[in-house]
Amino acid sequence: MPLQHSANLSKKEIKTISLLKVATDIFKKHNIEDAYLNAEILLSHILGKEREKLYAEDIEMDRKKIGLFFKLVKKRCRRIPLQYLTGKANFFGYSFFVENGVFIPRPETEILVEKTIEIYKNFFYPQKIKILDIGTGCGNIAITLAKEIENSYIIGTDISKKSIKIAKKNSIYHNVEKKTEFIRKNLFPEEGKFHIIVTNPPYIPKSEIKNLQQEVKKEPLIAIDGGVDGLKYIREILNGAEKYLYKNGFLIMEIGENQTSLIKEEVKEKNLKLIKIEKDLQNFERICIFKYN
Ligand code: GLN
Repeated sequence: MPLQHSANLSKKEIKTISLLKVATDIFKKHNIEDAYLNAEILLSHILGKEREKLYAEDIEMDRKKIGLFFKLVKKRCRRIPLQYLTGKANFFGYSFFVENGVFIPRPETEILVEKTIEIYKNFFYPQKIKILDIGTGCGNIAITLAKEIENSYIIGTDISKKSIKIAKKNSIYHNVEKKTEFIRKNLFPEEGKFHIIVTNPPYIPKSEIKNLQQEVKKEPLIAIDGGVDGLKYIREILNGAEKYLYKNGFLIMEIGENQTSLIKEEVKEKNLKLIKIEKDLQNFERICIFKYN
């Protein structure tokens, strides 16, 4: 709601708006992008109300809530990601629990999910399929696929104990705990065969980590750092995938900027063929689709 319309609002509404305005000014001083939106999201989190309802008549505000709100504002100024402050992240229209130490889902990864659903429809439907999600994080890819593909069973792996704990919690929250399984493993599980492997592995080259946004540096390095050229885990996944895929299975992988030529080189001699590359909204080649035959 634009601030200039505050003239004929009730006392309570003015209170909400003035709180938002003070927080917005603080954020602007600290160069936090989308200052007003950040303030709205944090206030709606504290009040347990949707953003649109922040301006309603019946908002109850007390000293304690105001204190908590400004505590979060202060933390946000220290570049702690909004999602860690609210404990939630949106992905593919679903809400996922996240916390410090767990990678925050990114919008570009929604393309990976879309393409996986497309591949299921075109090549497997109505067959029941098994999917492996390597480096599952909070379980956003695995759980979204479990929700969107009825006849599916998904195993998610992650080396982080905290990720596995949160992914399980998310699977219960989304009611797919019987269709999903989360195991603490680096990359591949002990054994198993899958129709599709999906993954958003760490792919940022080590030397570029220092240039990342301050917020990203608050996330677990282990989920982002892809070694010297960014391809450390990508290579391991490309090398291991054939063992875990059924014939005619697919590997769908998110990659870093300008990594496609190196990746083409990697699979040259393999039975894993790069059949399609999808770009993200910024026009970077972002999702690689491989077929195993
Ligand atoms: N896309 C992520 C970022 O913005 C990196 C994720 C990854 O390495 N898989 O930092």
